Amino acid sequence: MLESNLADLLKGKVKAMLGITGTEKLSSTSDDIWSTYFTLRREFPDWLEEFYEMAGMGAQIPRKLYLKLGINTRSKLVDLLRESEYRLYSGAGDSSGKDQLRRVLLMSRPINGKLILMAARYYAEKIKQAMLLCQSVTQFSEVGSLRREELWHDDLDFLVATQEPDRTTTWIKNLPFLYSGSKVRRRGRVKQLQLIHYSGVPIHFYIVSPAEYPFYLQFLTGPKEHNEELQARCPDYGSERFITKISEEREVYERAGVAYVEPPIRARGIEAGVPTGRLITREDIKGDLHLHSNWSDGLDGVLQMAEQGQSMGYQYMGVCDHSPLHASAGGISHDKLEEQIEFIRKCQNKVRIRLLAGCEVDIREDGSLDRPLSLLEKLDLVVASIHYPYSQDKETITKRIIRALDTGLVDILAHPTGKKSFGGPPSYHVDMEAVFKAAVRNETAVEINCFPDRDDLSAELASLARKMQVKLVINTDAHHRGQMDFMWLGVSTARRAGLTSNDVLNTRDFESFWVELKKRRLKRHHRLE
Ligand SMILES: [Zn+2]
Ligand SMILES: [Zn+2]
Repeated sequence: MLESNLADLLKGKVKAMLGITGTEKLSSTSDDIWSTYFTLRREFPDWLEEFYEMAGMGAQIPRKLYLKLGINTRSKLVDLLRESEYRLYSGAGDSSGKDQLRRVLLMSRPINGKLILMAARYYAEKIKQAMLLCQSVTQFSEVGSLRREELWHDDLDFLVATQEPDRTTTWIKNLPFLYSGSKVRRRGRVKQLQLIHYSGVPIHFYIVSPAEYPFYLQFLTGPKEHNEELQARCPDYGSERFITKISEEREVYERAGVAYVEPPIRARGIEAGVPTGRLITREDIKGDLHLHSNWSDGLDGVLQMAEQGQSMGYQYMGVCDHSPLHASAGGISHDKLEEQIEFIRKCQNKVRIRLLAGCEVDIREDGSLDRPLSLLEKLDLVVASIHYPYSQDKETITKRIIRALDTGLVDILAHPTGKKSFGGPPSYHVDMEAVFKAAVRNETAVEINCFPDRDDLSAELASLARKMQVKLVINTDAHHRGQMDFMWLGVSTARRAGLTSNDVLNTRDFESFWVELKKRRLKRHHRLE
């Protein structure tokens, strides 16, 4: 049973490596699949396999790169991607997924020893799928930084409950995502399996009995300081008697006499205050307000994006292509935007999802907006942001953004700090407290941008925004349909910031959102009169 389940799991990989597509069948016994897999693993570099999986695009592109173009080392691939990136941005690119490959290359391995959330979550999901096939596992959860949804991960931690630790250990050691070689350690009552994931990140499996599982779910989620706080309130915490009495994670908090703390905010400390109400979740999001189409530098058409939004269960979405100043991103002229507004109105007849005709207008060097007032007033949604120049000093950039907000024309301030986690242009320095004040004064919502290599807003700033009564929105800034899936990344940031659905405007149903948007515009209007 065990072997055949794992063989099923490997079948997809083997098919991908052999370039077998669609419904074509692999006619092999499970023994054959095992040996084919390991032969192929030796032949194909491991990073190539990562690409099949992470880019979610099947084997065709990496296979072609490897077999036809002779791209057989990582550095050759980096060179190729640099070149293709140039072509992509100079307008000669295509939608074959090269841009996606570039991102995957950057993110699939640890950066400064840490794996970024997007890759960590991706790998964790694969591990979870494989563990759910294991018959001897009764409960399974990610713990540690993964469960706390942190942005960076030193390692990936999992908790496993089983009555058959030996059988489960064998299963784990045979998982296909791991380098061979594993260490077993005992940490108190817990058996810890230490392995290395093929991304190079350490993986730890903690194996406990089903009775111990609820306590260890809390304990291993950490962080250490949080557990110490609990221990200070409940001296019995962690004792054998305590562990076996806990039948649900929440009970740990009940016994410590505090309200339950959701994992993403455990690092903030119990004293820091738990928000009233549950943290926002991905399911709370009703629309995505910052999307690009092929009118500027997006890869998909408005209708394709709309259909995707609809299939994701959204009620509304904002089409916000670039303005002329951002020429390298295909910023569209004012005339072209007039045309696009008409086009979006026509598209509306073909889809249920409410399409908001918007634009991402550049904030010019002097703080003015890169679109005339007459045009901005025609739009359903005005999203403003800085793309360049980034080189101004902190005071100048801060004034520049505030001046843009004080025009009273901006509904949403997008990627406000310009911060990138890695790669891309260096971020500018900005006094966000002053910007948040201007946002409140102008009824402007501030964006948590979901792009995986941005950290903008960071959880710390999103939390400050909440304290200062700034309304937030969570947007993907997607440049094709696939990127609309990044929504969960921004939601994770919001969760670490302790946000509830009340703090985020695009959790509202369309009617309520639309009324709020109009109300905010009206207030701005009155203020400026
Ligand atoms: Zn932008
Ligand atoms: Zn954008």
